[in-house]
Amino acid sequence: MATKGTISVHTENIFPIIKKFLYSDHEIFLRELVSNAVDATQKLKTLSGSGEAKGELGDLKITVKVDKEAKTLHIIDKGIGMTEEEVGKYINQLAFSSAEEFLEKYKDKGAQVIGHFGLGFYSAFMVAHQVELITKSYKEGSTAVKWTCDGSTEFEISESDKIERGTEVILHLAEDSMEFNDTFRIKSILDKYCKFLPVEIEFEEKVLNNPSPLWTKAPADCTKEEYEAFYKELYPFSETPLFWIHLNVDYPFKLTGILYFPKIKNEFEPTRNKIQLYSNQVFVTDSVQDIVPEFLMLLHGVIDSPDIPLNVSRSYLQSDANVKKINNHITKKVADKLEEIFKQDRVEFNNKWESIGTFVKYGMISEEKFYERANKFCLLQNKANDYFTIEEYKEKVGSTQTDKDSKIVLLYSNDLIAQNSFINAVEKRGYDVLKMDGVLDNHFISNLEHKFEGVSWKRVDSDSVDKIIDKDLKKESVLSDDDQKAIQETFEKEFANNGQFKFATEALAPDDSFLTLVKPEWERRMKEMQKMQGMGMDIFGSMPDSYQVVINTNHALAVKLSKIAEGDAKVQLMKQAFELSKLSQNLLQGEELTQFIQRNLNQLA
Ligand code: ADP
Repeated sequence: MATKGTISVHTENIFPIIKKFLYSDHEIFLRELVSNAVDATQKLKTLSGSGEAKGELGDLKITVKVDKEAKTLHIIDKGIGMTEEEVGKYINQLAFSSAEEFLEKYKDKGAQVIGHFGLGFYSAFMVAHQVELITKSYKEGSTAVKWTCDGSTEFEISESDKIERGTEVILHLAEDSMEFNDTFRIKSILDKYCKFLPVEIEFEEKVLNNPSPLWTKAPADCTKEEYEAFYKELYPFSETPLFWIHLNVDYPFKLTGILYFPKIKNEFEPTRNKIQLYSNQVFVTDSVQDIVPEFLMLLHGVIDSPDIPLNVSRSYLQSDANVKKINNHITKKVADKLEEIFKQDRVEFNNKWESIGTFVKYGMISEEKFYERANKFCLLQNKANDYFTIEEYKEKVGSTQTDKDSKIVLLYSNDLIAQNSFINAVEKRGYDVLKMDGVLDNHFISNLEHKFEGVSWKRVDSDSVDKIIDKDLKKESVLSDDDQKAIQETFEKEFANNGQFKFATEALAPDDSFLTLVKPEWERRMKEMQKMQGMGMDIFGSMPDSYQVVINTNHALAVKLSKIAEGDAKVQLMKQAFELSKLSQNLLQGEELTQFIQRNLNQLA
């Protein structure tokens, strides 16, 4: 005998309202129903574990089916099922009242709430004109029941001949929801939301999901191979990641996940939407910009937190206190993890630095909180490939590289080969050279300069070897002032047609280079910054590279030149010296270089 009843409501027209409200996001009905099926299955496992559910559980797969002809969609689980009494309690009362509660809460807020709702079972009515629920409880001796509702507040409940334990929900698709009477559409929704659900989901005779994704395991049980394989599963077309952090937090909120450090290419493009957000293995969103700090958007991976509601909208995330906490927490966890490796295994940390350096530097530049943590473990690498923290490095070079104003000058190179002659020169003075050739290093350096008082940075080719760290030492000059001036003037006269070079004399050591072509630090930085900002009309960027040429008047060649009378021989010697200097500083290229070599070969012949 079928029983008829009325769902106890106050709002008679709740279903049309549900439909209207949820219009923009109809597809989530499937996520809701499959999630319910998963919950029912998990509950059964728990009951079986405690001995409350007797006997073999058998295959617990959840099946989703499209019956194109009947225009029905079926979600079938073998979970705990419901008795008639429970259907009354959970479906007629609980599920309905949560739908009603939702509407009560949001009926005045209109479009603002779209994308933020949690209707569970009743979301079926977004796409179905009639819903059947056939269910048999796990409890011994229970009979199966069938509940039918056509989207009004009336329902019908009758006995069913269902033999298997569990629940089947049948949606009779509404005329305007025929898009869901399509296997591709259903598969794509399942792929999106159900990829990592904890129970197997079968569709078209294939299991679509990975029920035990790696992030749900204990970090100690995961191998490198597994982390890498899981990364491939998430991003089939990406290169192997370099490093990862397995988040596993219980307090003050539950948070699991794996964040991968991808290999960051030299063209610096932060990748977006590479982190997926899950709630108990149910996909929520891949727009995580409010949960994950900006600099961590460079990371890839998965975050799973049951504390983030399934139904989120951007405005919701922005205002949610839990989300703020999670954001701070992730920043902290990432800093913790890095610091932990730094403290426990410095060698490993050094080895990994190449891959995480860009990311850490980006974090330090963009996030003050992270800076405060990271400046203690952020590493600098010198030319000898040794790594130092900033403090360690200050300690190392402090005694030799302090200038007349008591500033520590850190010398760096962004191209060890091109700047080789400069490096040799400063090393002869006992100075150390840092390698700063990363995409962010310009920004990073100016950032550190602001924050570390008493430290300045200079690229090795930005000044002559005695001026680069100005100790105000006056060197004895071999030549008289007049002779020095004369040499400078001859160079200026000879190479004046090329405004690219400005000449100056300096009494360096006799074994320092005769000519040094330097690029002043400040001018170069301005140029680089404008290039980075991609400004079209930049004055510095469009200017040809200009150099200051420092003539070492204590060099033997200077002495020789000052003794040769004006004339071809002198000019010839100057030209040759100039070209050799350019060559040694990698400034002679292409045609110029070919001609230079040819001329010298001819002289040999
Ligand atoms: P929620 O899942 O948030 O509790 P729902 O409206 O989705 O809300 O479902 C209401 C209740 O109906 C569930 O709490 C559960 O007790 C019951 N239920 C729904 N679907 C199933 C199912 N497939 N198997 C067993 N019970 C179910």
